[in-house]
Amino acid sequence: MIDCHCHLEQKQYQENREKIIQESKKELKAIVTCAAHPKDIQLTIDLTKKHKKFIFAALGIHPTYIKEITEQEIEAAIKEIKKNKDNIVAIGETGLDYHWIKEPEAREKQKILFKKLITLAKELDKPLVIHSWDATAETINILEQQGMKNKKVLMHLFSDRKVIQKVIENGWLVSIGPGIKKSKDIRKIARDTPLNKILLETDSPWFQQEDQEYGIPNNVKIPCQKIAEIKQVSLAEVEKQTDLNAINFFNLKIERFKKIVS
Ligand SMILES: [Zn+2]
Repeated sequence: MIDCHCHLEQKQYQENREKIIQESKKELKAIVTCAAHPKDIQLTIDLTKKHKKFIFAALGIHPTYIKEITEQEIEAAIKEIKKNKDNIVAIGETGLDYHWIKEPEAREKQKILFKKLITLAKELDKPLVIHSWDATAETINILEQQGMKNKKVLMHLFSDRKVIQKVIENGWLVSIGPGIKKSKDIRKIARDTPLNKILLETDSPWFQQEDQEYGIPNNVKIPCQKIAEIKQVSLAEVEKQTDLNAINFFNLKIERFKKIVS
């Protein structure tokens, strides 16, 4: 399995980061970790260098940071991302969050930032990882306006099942995490989305299980099992297809690639 979206830079991992990565290596083929704040870029890039062919990075600016981040910091972050273009596999997460951000001015700023990061993804020829909460229609509109139909776009933690057909029609992918256990909407998305359009994720350290202090990349087996159940296919089939989807989407150069295609 591949965890296509987590946050290894988070403080929950400060003490045990290496241990958790070693445990992930026993069960997973790869991890895509996502630095959502510019202050975490360096740590994230260092992790990809330390764990080559296993940890890959996406760099972006999360829309919920819009009120605390200055224009200058955004420009500096974009420069930093460009500098690291050969060390990353995607731009993101980026998008719109109207759940946490209610002020109209801040929402306008989110849109401007979102468009900047779409432009950056085009310029660097990287896939986009999208965060959208309570803002689906606007998120989809902006992506379409920016010419992202049939381009590499991943809707991460997507739960708006009313528009899943639109997402599929636009040629985009969705990633499904452990939230599938509790969310009927996500289970319906898993049911209605072809397996070749689904990736697995954990968004850890969030979505920890009852017996966990924080979520870990190995929790990716939770959505894998649930999807197998819903689609009535084997776990191995879900694993194989979602691995291939992730490898193709992010163009991952993983160590054990041969093993899974044989
Ligand atoms: Zn995330």
